[in-house]
This record gives sequence, C-alpha cells and structure tokens, in this order.
Amino acid sequence: MKKITDNVYVESQISVCNSSIVITKDGVVVIDTPMVPENAKKWAKQAAEFGPIRYVINTEPHGDHISGNCYFGGTLIAHEGTRDAILASKVDDIKGMLQMMSPGTPLDKDFRYRAPDITLSERLTFYLGKHSFHLINMPGHSPFQVAVYVPEERIVFTSDNISRGLGFFHQALPDKWLKALKELKKLDVDYVVPGHGEVGDKSVFQEMEDVVNIWINTVKEAIAKGMTLEEIQKTLTMTKEFPNLPRDERTKGIITMNLASIYKYYKK
Ligand SMILES: [Zn+2]
Repeated sequence: MKKITDNVYVESQISVCNSSIVITKDGVVVIDTPMVPENAKKWAKQAAEFGPIRYVINTEPHGDHISGNCYFGGTLIAHEGTRDAILASKVDDIKGMLQMMSPGTPLDKDFRYRAPDITLSERLTFYLGKHSFHLINMPGHSPFQVAVYVPEERIVFTSDNISRGLGFFHQALPDKWLKALKELKKLDVDYVVPGHGEVGDKSVFQEMEDVVNIWINTVKEAIAKGMTLEEIQKTLTMTKEFPNLPRDERTKGIITMNLASIYKYYKK
C-alpha cells in the first residue's frame, strides 16, 4: 500500500491491477478490487481501518478489476457494460485466471461475482464528506472504461486507458482510446493512477498516447502493404518499437493478441 496524498492510498503489490482507496470524512471509497480472493479479503480489511466502506467503483469490466467485489461492503458502481459483463461471468472464468497466475490455488468457498448496484452510461457524480467523485465513461481500452476524477485530491484514476508498458488491446477501440487520452489531458490533476503500473503525473497521458499511436500506425502500415494477420503476427515482434520490454512468453502473448485485435478493428 502506497500513500499518494493525505487521503489516497494505492495497492499494487497484492492486487493484479491497481486498487485504490479514497478516505473521506464520511467513509471510504474503493476503486477496483483485487482478483485473488485472499488478497481481496486482506485489502478490504485494511481499507475498513480508515472508516466504513461506503462505495466501491469498478473502472472496467475485466476480471482483474472486478473479481474481488464480493469481499467489500458498500454500494457498487460501474458502467452498465461492466454490469452486463459481470452478470455474464462464470465461476470457471476466475478459476481459469487463478490457475494461470498461481496453479493449484483453490477458489475460496465464499467467492461469487458481485454485480454493480448502480450503473452509469456517460457520467455520474456523487458526493461523500468533503469529496466529490466524477465518473466519466471514456471508451478506449474497452467501450466501458470509467475515469474517476477526484478534484479535491487533484487525482484521476484512469482504469486501463493508462497501463504503463504495452497497453492491452483485446477489447479496444483504438481511435476512441486516443480521444479518451485527449479528454484526460484536460483534467486539472497532479496525480494519475493507472490501471497497471506506477502512479505518475500528467506526463503519463502523452506516454500512453505515444504507445497507442505506435500500435495503430504499425498495424495500419502493415495492412496498407497487404499483409495478412498471420504474416503480421509472424513478422512484427515490436522489439524495435518497445526496446525495454521483457521478452517472455507473457509479453509475446500480449503482442500477438494486440496485433490481432487492432488488425480486426482497421481491416474492415
Ligand atoms: Zn482491462
């Protein structure tokens, strides 16, 4: 757990994505929940030491942001598309993800998918203590991304629209993603909490825009040359474009997935 401002803590170690808490005079707001049940329970307990958990926000529909929901109290808020995704989730989904991360981990007997109590389509603002929470749908990494802007702390929680490193495109709308980053740049903030990776300042927006542009331009050029998806996945290793990334199987898998998703998006 890392203290970012007087009232904001971010947990990156035991959560797969970043899970954050904002402490207000009237209770705690949790943003995204850890995927591994044991870690979700631990984080829920730590969060509750700062006050009653009043609201939990999911910034997107993916398993690493929503699976710990059932271990937290409070009212759960997310985009309506995230609610649909959670309702469609099967226990085998989390079993598969846990198996991939740490083989042999049994699923906790109390686990269940918890769906949002309140949904938004474009915007929702709520007030707690002296804080205001501005939830804004910014399609990009998925159609259902929600940025959580808390002006009193000069902070924005961006969801995976900011993900330090490669970015994940499996459900992405690349053009809208660029638009989302332009919108994020307009916010008056000092702290940017990404979906994955270190907390940064506003320079993180440009860093991500560069990454998204590299992906879009690389795939568009390949399509213009008449390459098939198979050829693209075979020849484009992205080592030149992202020289500092680890070259492990996981990274290779993300590259193959990103190329396929962006290819399908532009090859219409
Ligand atoms: Zn995601």
